[in-house]
Amino acid sequence: MLMPSFPPLAQLETEREFGARHIGPGPEDEAAMLGAVGAASRAALIEAIVPAAIRRGAMDLPAPVGEAAALAELKALARKNRVLKSFIGQGYHGTQTPGVILRNILENPAWYTAYTPYQAEISQGRLEALLNFQTMVVDLTGLPVANASMLDEATAAAEAMTLALRVGRSKATAFFVADDVLPQTLAVIRTRAEPLGLQVVVGPAEAAGEVLAGTPCFGALFQYPGAEGAVRDLRGPIAAVKAQGGQAIVAADLLALTLLVPPGELGADVAVGNTQRFGMPMGNGGPHAAYLACREAHQRSMPGRLVGMSVDAHGKPALRLALQTREQHIRREKATSNICTAQVLPAVVASMYAVYHGAAGLRRIAERVSSYAAALAEGIEQLGWTLAHDTAFDTLTVQTGAQTEALLAHAVELGMNLRRVDAARLGVSLDETTTRADLDALWTVFARGASRPDFDVFEKGVAPRIPAALQRRSAYLTHPVFEQHHSETAMLRYLRKLSDKDLALDRTMIPLGSCTMKLNATSEMIPITWPEFAQIHPYAPAEQRAGYAELDAQIRSWLSEITGYAGISLQPNAGSQGEYAGLLAIRGWQRARGEGHRDICLIPASAHGTNPASAQMVGMKVVVVACDAQGNVDLADLRAKVEQHSAKLAAIMITYPSTHGVFEEGVKDLCALVHQHGGRVYVDGANMNALVGLAAPGAFGGDVSHLNLHKTFCIPHGGGGPGVGPVCVAEDLVPFLPKGADEAVHGEEVGAVSAAPLGNAAVLPITWMYIRMMGGEGLTRATETAILSANYIAARLKDAFPVLYTGGADLAGGGVAHECILDLRAIKDATGVTAEDVAKRLIDYGFHAPTLSFPVAGTLMVEPTESEPKAELDRFIEAMLAIRREIAMVEAGAWGRDDNPLKHAPHTAEVIGADTWPHAYPRSAAAWPLDSLRGGSKYWSPVGRVDNVHGDRNLFCTCAPVESYAA
Ligand SMILES: *Cc1c(COP(=O)(O)O)cnc(C)c1O
Repeated sequence: MLMPSFPPLAQLETEREFGARHIGPGPEDEAAMLGAVGAASRAALIEAIVPAAIRRGAMDLPAPVGEAAALAELKALARKNRVLKSFIGQGYHGTQTPGVILRNILENPAWYTAYTPYQAEISQGRLEALLNFQTMVVDLTGLPVANASMLDEATAAAEAMTLALRVGRSKATAFFVADDVLPQTLAVIRTRAEPLGLQVVVGPAEAAGEVLAGTPCFGALFQYPGAEGAVRDLRGPIAAVKAQGGQAIVAADLLALTLLVPPGELGADVAVGNTQRFGMPMGNGGPHAAYLACREAHQRSMPGRLVGMSVDAHGKPALRLALQTREQHIRREKATSNICTAQVLPAVVASMYAVYHGAAGLRRIAERVSSYAAALAEGIEQLGWTLAHDTAFDTLTVQTGAQTEALLAHAVELGMNLRRVDAARLGVSLDETTTRADLDALWTVFARGASRPDFDVFEKGVAPRIPAALQRRSAYLTHPVFEQHHSETAMLRYLRKLSDKDLALDRTMIPLGSCTMKLNATSEMIPITWPEFAQIHPYAPAEQRAGYAELDAQIRSWLSEITGYAGISLQPNAGSQGEYAGLLAIRGWQRARGEGHRDICLIPASAHGTNPASAQMVGMKVVVVACDAQGNVDLADLRAKVEQHSAKLAAIMITYPSTHGVFEEGVKDLCALVHQHGGRVYVDGANMNALVGLAAPGAFGGDVSHLNLHKTFCIPHGGGGPGVGPVCVAEDLVPFLPKGADEAVHGEEVGAVSAAPLGNAAVLPITWMYIRMMGGEGLTRATETAILSANYIAARLKDAFPVLYTGGADLAGGGVAHECILDLRAIKDATGVTAEDVAKRLIDYGFHAPTLSFPVAGTLMVEPTESEPKAELDRFIEAMLAIRREIAMVEAGAWGRDDNPLKHAPHTAEVIGADTWPHAYPRSAAAWPLDSLRGGSKYWSPVGRVDNVHGDRNLFCTCAPVESYAA
């Protein structure tokens, strides 16, 4: 007997649809969830929740393909990039990512799917890695405090400029920039300075004293070594700046600092720079972690995230983010910067590169690079060329005169890119990957047909071109962490030990409202380390970057279809930077129309902290608009405020659906009202996961939006970055999108907002793969499922925890968007149990907490995303219901207000296994409140609840002395 027939071949030939892998709930789950919510179908649910007035038609995107086909298509595109050996330098260098770091950090979901370490207890691993990063930067720069991390060197320099403005005693509004600062750094500084009314004065580093005597400056920026390779003694210029009451900032190369007297010892107040060459591929410009280090006196004014030591509830050392009251999420327009998502994953890579090589290893690499540079210099001089400088670390500038273009072209023929400094000079930068064969090839270029120099520097050695007065004597990286992991076995285990301390998406859902912690599919991640994407210099000739250009164009056209906007730039490195670029576009447009006096930015009370912080950076004044009891923008208050500020209204920044998790019915009216008064509407696109395929902000009244590709479009959160924050604008604002640092800026056009023209280019393949594999229908189904999942959670939890703000639809949970806010304020009043206690107790149940106290204090905001299977949603719901029963025990007086498993959460294994147990509740209730937690895979928090206040009072932000680790 033959078997009954198989399905038709045409059906079997296609791969399993990727959408069904990305979206967690299957058809049966969906039916059950719809039943719980009380909706007849997914379509009926969406109709009840999303206002009809803003609904859009189907998206016109390419039909989806499966994982293998998408990878093949992207590979063909990637091959349009040409990988040449880069000697361009200019802040981007070849580097060897150690295999153990590549596979176990960059390609490891335990690291790349983690969230920003706000919940310190489940983040001790990445916090330790970041503390190592800070220690590395502190040691190498010779300054006592460093953050983790900045977005790129150019924005770090711009942040240092505004830091200098904040802390300085000087009343001056001019800022000195040395003329050998990296060109992209100067471009970004110019962009930043202009809206703040600051003047940028450029001159030779040596002339800083004379310039400042004529034009008082609040600060000055120097490059060390200079962009053209000179290793200058900056003590004089730094002293001149400080003598005038200004702050001295040095942008320094960390590899060079293993050999050079560090900025701190030269007298600098602030040091900034990039850590790219510590193991992160060039990636066409990013992502890489930049750094900022400063004097202790400035630490409370410094931008960015800072990791510090504190203690846990048991008095043991524990790490957490320090001095958060500086940051935008608390300080809003008075924050020290608008940075939210930073570059954590690249910072972890850089720190581990230093851990793996140690001080001696890094020094050896630097000595080799520097020796090769000296040898190359000698040979080039023998060939009859003149060098621009007689000092060098890794970079030479050759006076090539009329030969410049011919030499450049010859180098390309031999597979090498040199830097075209200007029409008469070429730059050559060496790095860790440089070989003798490379030197030979370079000599061949400069020999122009003659024979290469006839000496053998390799055997007899060569004198470095570093001035004796600048040779570093001080020690660095002396902490044991930089000495104990030099074997691959030790390194592998150290990385595993750290990642085991943390909760990431590879172990549990991370239901963080506003953050959209969805699947980061492996197929999406694979292309980012392909050499055709990874080994590209951002300022390589355009024809070598044709693949990136196509990637950029395709993603922009797809996002344009998705958002309804006419023009998009992928340059901003995070949502905050997209906000900044978007507001600059509005400002540029208004100035071009002679309406430069418009400077009022309306922002609802519920806005994310980056919104007011970004408005402040473009010189706008923030006016807060109230929200009503339903969580909507209070239209009466809005009307009053637009009337009052009509003549000076620049913009409103709204979030849609709102950060309260509701689709405001009146959004079109709101946009129209602002337009009537001459303002433009900024729609914060962080909640785009509730809109894709259902509504387009560019179509319902928005003029500008940023997207967060690391939220809606699958770039992993990386433990706090990298991100990509595309800025999307309406037709008339297109001329005001940011230019690349290598492009000219005219009139009111907007210059560079990132160091690299395509920002964090190397992670863009992730978003490309997602959209390519999902197609229009798949993306729409993802949005609908995200909304269904949030409504399912709201419906199942609403009797235990009231859901704040609903659309009031005729549904079991009242109808929320893609996230819901659980209100714990009444519980706190009745029992003393806080939202934070619940967040920490969830750790004992194996979960990462939802967003705590944003946008409303005393609440938890839950965003499940479409990727979580129903079984995981149910596990979360069971945990929350069990916690509610625990709260009931406190309410009933069975457990004391101060002695219950909520107040003492999270419970460490050490506490559970201790010989004494001081609590009124049993150990089993603390550790295994649900039977499903038994059986061996339970997550144990490595520390008890972390004391934030203690850490801020006793600030300690580098690796502690060994004794305190032993404690
Ligand atoms: C995440 C977020 C931002 C900021 O984006 P980053 O990429 O973290 O800089 C802005 N607004 C809202 C509503 C957000 O959720």
